[in-house]
Amino acid sequence: MGDKLHQKLAIGIDLGTTYSCVAVWQHGRAEIIVNDQGNRTTPSYVAFTDTQRMVGDAAKNQAAHNPTNTIFDAKRLIGRRFSDTHVQSDINLWPFKVICGENDRPKIAVNLKSQERQFLPEEIPSMVLAKMLEIAEKYLGSTVKDAVVTVPAYFNDSQRQATKDAGTIAGLNVMQIINEPTAAAIAYGLDKKDSYDYERNIFVFDLGGGTFDVSLVAINKGDFKVKAVDGDTHLGGEDIDNRMVNYFVEELKKQHKKDISDSPKALRRLRTSCEGAKRVLSSTSVVDTIVEVDALYEGIDFYSTITRARFEELNKDLFAKCLEIAEKCLSDAKMDKRCIDEVVLVGGSTRIPKIQQLLQNFFNGKDLCRSINPDEAVAYGAAVQAAVLSGQGNGDLQGIVLRDVTPLSLGFSKHGGLMVVVIPRNTSIPTTMWVDNYTSVYDNQTSVSFNVYQGERAMAKDNNLLDTFYLTIPPEPKGVPRFRICFSIDVNGILSVSAEETESGSKNQMTIIKGKDRLSKEDIERMVQEAEKYKADDERCKKKAEAKNALEDYIYKIRAAVNIDAIGSGLSAANKKKIEDAIERASKLVDDQRLAEVDEYEHEMRELERVFNLIILKPSQDFDG
Ligand code: AMP
Repeated sequence: MGDKLHQKLAIGIDLGTTYSCVAVWQHGRAEIIVNDQGNRTTPSYVAFTDTQRMVGDAAKNQAAHNPTNTIFDAKRLIGRRFSDTHVQSDINLWPFKVICGENDRPKIAVNLKSQERQFLPEEIPSMVLAKMLEIAEKYLGSTVKDAVVTVPAYFNDSQRQATKDAGTIAGLNVMQIINEPTAAAIAYGLDKKDSYDYERNIFVFDLGGGTFDVSLVAINKGDFKVKAVDGDTHLGGEDIDNRMVNYFVEELKKQHKKDISDSPKALRRLRTSCEGAKRVLSSTSVVDTIVEVDALYEGIDFYSTITRARFEELNKDLFAKCLEIAEKCLSDAKMDKRCIDEVVLVGGSTRIPKIQQLLQNFFNGKDLCRSINPDEAVAYGAAVQAAVLSGQGNGDLQGIVLRDVTPLSLGFSKHGGLMVVVIPRNTSIPTTMWVDNYTSVYDNQTSVSFNVYQGERAMAKDNNLLDTFYLTIPPEPKGVPRFRICFSIDVNGILSVSAEETESGSKNQMTIIKGKDRLSKEDIERMVQEAEKYKADDERCKKKAEAKNALEDYIYKIRAAVNIDAIGSGLSAANKKKIEDAIERASKLVDDQRLAEVDEYEHEMRELERVFNLIILKPSQDFDG
């Protein structure tokens, strides 16, 4: 397949807390792309070892042996400060090290090739995004640049910015950031868009690995209009796993008088077992299951059981919180639950029967829609939007329009610390709103500063401070200068703020907010270069591994030929010894845990080939070489 054919192909990526998924619009439908392991979703894991970096399945598969250098859940860190209470509680459970960097930014510290390396939280998702891009490029047989990337609807401005930056570092042109439940609504609504000629209200309930979102979307033919969103960016399957992990940590204390909380390796293995048990308990016929970890800690073979009732009890408050949030979303949209036409389930954690039961009761016994694949719907919808934006699926996708909302109110602090809301939550985006008639508060004031916040609390300081910006004004008596402030939110849900001085009539744009926590252009450039370096390193590592495999394969074949085949029986003892020596030399190189250079493997391969060919040509004649 040539590049030309796919010049305009754009992909959709669901960058999940625990798993990611990539899709592309082709042949009149969105296709989920399988990874190199044949899986339709890829773990959002990155691991570092003495020899290499790994992303996806390879990283997750070695997590139990290398817990301190295997990074997962990085989505829970992006756009957050180190001192954030959620970050602090997560750090206690993660086996890897998170430290406080400059400006209260968290940094992930790992060992790569025996050296400590520190990464900003954006860099880990950028590696996952690069992996998803690589999966897509391999499948499509061409380079891809453009992508639509999804984020939880309830992500704030800093988290959206950070996701966009992660895309840039991965070498992607992020055409648009869209909300996960909105993407799922597209996946759900696309099939049905021509079935109804009236507006249908769809309630999307999206409980994934790390985040929870609800979204009320009105679908009318191809028009997808979000009416309200709500959620919690720190509620998902991982929290449910944590409850079980904590439960068994306590049980271990009781049963064996051992505390494993300080052992990352033991915690990691217990967590994997708990996640498995959770999945088993989701099967409707099961009432209890076992949690078993051999040699968990100090020689203890841990074995215990957990009933479905106990599991539900442990997570009661988390489940109740989901319903509270659903209720709030409906009340924000001023909609009675009886007006909801469909309740659509998305995200792996909606497989939990208790959640389904509670939700069905909440909607007065309404059937829940499980027809879309909860793991793939978001990537599917993202691929549709990518195709719409790049003009791919012309015929099939004509008339698709997406109108989203901003999840959190935006404003600034007034004298006294009150939050002045400029753009209320659930306003349709893109949008621009002005605050007029601002003036100075003392004589000859030459600058005014604004703190821009996002959130719903009455006092500005309780909300998320996005940035502080300064406006230079002409020195005049107080109340004379006049200016107005403009808040704009783009289609990605990202804010920019500018101000105009209106008194002089010049209306110059004075300042634009970039986001206090946003990476600088230089940071991004440096990370892009580093990402390229990692990519080249990975490529080198892959080539070395391929060369090693090829040599190992060859040794195996020759060994079989010498030992079993007809060739072996015709060999003189001296020649047999020569081949065995050559095999032994080559095997030494292959058995070494560390990867050697490609030419070392190739050299051994040539040597082996030379000895073997010479002897095979004259099997009974001794040769010196
Ligand atoms: P997602 O982010 O949508 O891929 O969801 C991942 C989350 O779904 C993880 O926390 C998984 O443990 C959870 N999950 C996947 N399958 C099941 C299942 N059968 N029962 C309960 N949770 C599940």
